[in-house]
Amino acid sequence: MQSSLVSLGLDLASPVSGVYAADWVAAPSGGEIVSIDPSTGQRLGAVLTASAADYERVMVAAAEAHEAWRRVPAPVRGDLVRLIGNALRAKKKDLATLITLETGKILPEAEGEVQEMIDIADFAVGLSRQLYGRAMHSERVAHRMLEQWHPLGVVGVLSAFNFPAAVWSWNALLAAVCGDSVVWKPSEEAPLTAVAVTRIVNEVVRAAGHPPIFALVAGGRDVGGWLAADRRVPLVSATGSTAMGRAVGETVARRLGRSLLELGGNNAIIVLRDADPELVMRAVLFGAVGTAGQRCTTTRRLFVERGMAKELTQRLVQAYERVPIGNPLDAGTLMGPLIHARAVDTMMAALATARAQGAEILTGGTRVDRAGYFVTPALVRAPLGLPIAREETFAPILYVFEVEGLAEAVAHQNDVPQGLSSAIFTRDLRAAERFLSATGSDCGIANVNLGTSGAEIGGAFGGEKDTGGGRESGSDSWKAYMRRQTTTINFGDELPLAQGIRFG
Ligand code: NAD
Repeated sequence: MQSSLVSLGLDLASPVSGVYAADWVAAPSGGEIVSIDPSTGQRLGAVLTASAADYERVMVAAAEAHEAWRRVPAPVRGDLVRLIGNALRAKKKDLATLITLETGKILPEAEGEVQEMIDIADFAVGLSRQLYGRAMHSERVAHRMLEQWHPLGVVGVLSAFNFPAAVWSWNALLAAVCGDSVVWKPSEEAPLTAVAVTRIVNEVVRAAGHPPIFALVAGGRDVGGWLAADRRVPLVSATGSTAMGRAVGETVARRLGRSLLELGGNNAIIVLRDADPELVMRAVLFGAVGTAGQRCTTTRRLFVERGMAKELTQRLVQAYERVPIGNPLDAGTLMGPLIHARAVDTMMAALATARAQGAEILTGGTRVDRAGYFVTPALVRAPLGLPIAREETFAPILYVFEVEGLAEAVAHQNDVPQGLSSAIFTRDLRAAERFLSATGSDCGIANVNLGTSGAEIGGAFGGEKDTGGGRESGSDSWKAYMRRQTTTINFGDELPLAQGIRFG
């Protein structure tokens, strides 16, 4: 463990700086955040956070970096991101180990998170030569129209604890090829990971001789609030709870800035009678128990068609009771701890509410008697419309509902405030297509014969309703990080007006 931290430049004997403004700020004065290992409850290290004056330094440096960076051709910007991808490849194991230590996610999933950073780097490199605008035919003689995309400015990134590194990369690596600079306010629960990523990335930037476009401003919600309110930040990309998104979104909207919100989910799998039960079992287990139920795309609700429910539930109970829970660094562990003691309390409270509202806990939902914040995953048989199942409890609770068929399943799946990820298991083409149609799932992600979690970076990622409506990562999500300019060029000798208007 220590060797990993040293390789990342992290000697944790004393607090490390969490503020990068063209260089590391030696002694930021916003106070200290202690990073806790959720597997033990013990201190891992501490990070010094930004005061208002430190924040100001960061913003001035980020604006200066953007001023220079926007002049660099996009493919050259892409080449820097290529080098960053290579640096992440070299540090994959060490960075993943730190993510596991700080968040408690099992090592293979932490490695997957770093791989996702590498994948988005590769994607962004290609994108740097494909920031296409359109050319349009003008209605006027000897005129030409086109649209072009320019860098936006300083992009603020607020990230959640459960993807402490990848969320930054989805935003920052696209923003970088788009010509922006990035100010990152990481989660208070995973500040060391943010420091490590910022070190890796800035070593590359410095060696390549490019402007310091990747800034870090560690701190609490107040620092997030400063970014949201700051007119120098045209885009704030915020990933976290719906409550956070509401606060940040309102503040950004008040100054007519842009926000990209990636908020809570309440994801469901629908299982029809003709589904392949082996696929269902694997998808539900990974979706509901993976990352200890702490993914935005975690499967939280299961709608099973009558006739299949009893057998599937029995098999799930058996599987749940065999899930290896333990040290997330150990090979063979499938479920690590929750992030902190509050998360355990929230899970227990949700289960007590579920019981009071008429649900039955089939297995799990207990605290594990060891150091750290371990629980057993809960499988809950629930009556349709259970009120607590409308909320996202960020813990491994899976509510199982029995339904008559597709129509009832879709109606209940959609009848929650959130709209992130959804899936159906069926061999019936018509049922699958109806699920995907305009009257089917209302979520940003809708899958057929695979689960709700574990998206690839190539698609646009995000969800509707209380999930915030933002899209990031693949497809044309890059457009959020640029400003669009429509241009008309007259190469004639007359000045015809649009719509045939004659003036004078
Ligand atoms: P959180 O909302 O507590 O914190 C997220 C970030 O926002 C942190 O950096 C935090 O400091 C900051 N923040 C919180 N309240 C703020 C405020 N009022 N003003 C300014 N900044 C504020 O979320 P979390 O507990 O770290 O993460 C779990 C949540 O994130 C879950 O709801 C999960 O579904 C969601 N999430 C969503 C996605 C997605 O892509 N949709 C991805 C990961 C996590």
